[in-house]
Amino acid sequence: MKTIVTVLLLLSSITSGFAQLKAYQPFFGQSGEYLVLRKWQEGTTERYWAVHPKTLQTVLLENASVRPMSQEEARSWVSRTSYGRALYTEQTRAGALQDAGLTRTQPNEKGFSLTMDLCPSHKPLTRSVFKDLLAAFEPEEKPVPVTITITGLWMQSHADDLEWLKNLEKRGDLRITWVNHSFHHQYNPKLPLTRNFLLTQGTNMASEILLNEQAMIQNGLLPSIFFRFPGLISDKSIFDEVLNLGLLPLGSDAWLAKGQKVQPGSIVLIHPNGNEPVGIADFVKLLKTNASSIKKKDWLLYDLPASLSSH
Ligand SMILES: [Zn+2]
Repeated sequence: MKTIVTVLLLLSSITSGFAQLKAYQPFFGQSGEYLVLRKWQEGTTERYWAVHPKTLQTVLLENASVRPMSQEEARSWVSRTSYGRALYTEQTRAGALQDAGLTRTQPNEKGFSLTMDLCPSHKPLTRSVFKDLLAAFEPEEKPVPVTITITGLWMQSHADDLEWLKNLEKRGDLRITWVNHSFHHQYNPKLPLTRNFLLTQGTNMASEILLNEQAMIQNGLLPSIFFRFPGLISDKSIFDEVLNLGLLPLGSDAWLAKGQKVQPGSIVLIHPNGNEPVGIADFVKLLKTNASSIKKKDWLLYDLPASLSSH
């Protein structure tokens, strides 16, 4: 309870340029097969954000019947599920400075999962890479499953691009897993990694996470169960904070702009926010090289929640 009150106080003291949801807070409860992780109010309605522990799919609930739980109860209830196992795996990875989250799904997959980061940027969305992606994978896979990690600051300055992406989703071209990538995504090229990104002095980890969730919900995006650290940089303390809020940190074993190679089951990372043209060029080249395997369905794009819940 004490943590919840602290979080609320911190949240209300931050001006982030958008109206926050009323009484938005971490919460543990059970509603049918769902584990509830957040609650807030909309008028007289109680609303919830919850995860299905077996499929890792998330959902928004309203006026649902919810039985409150302690965090310990919640952990033991999900311990034998995909979600419980993923939380456990993550705990064993906490502590590394770089890329501490889940980095690969299943090596027996005939393809990979694509994650795209929308870190704050003054440049427009690289729409061409989405067009290339659809041209390469449709009709073999439709909708094409992709994971997009998003920041509050990007959403605030790219309303048209966000609408464009949501339309691709509505039209059934893309199936998007939306991932929280923090609200502000602080970065200073002059600072060492140990004091950069979310390790920047004065950063409030809980508010970075919870503010961005609210911004996502208010923009009509359904937050998934994943979280991606800006720069893939974390330490044990902020990694544990993410786990405590019920989220699964998502790393990458194939950040293309860094020259890392795609393997079966890879979680590939590119940046379509205009700031990393090298990674985009590599990705487009990769699509061309593998065009015939894609046609034969020997090289597929995988849906991340499904991939991580099927074992
Ligand atoms: Zn980023």
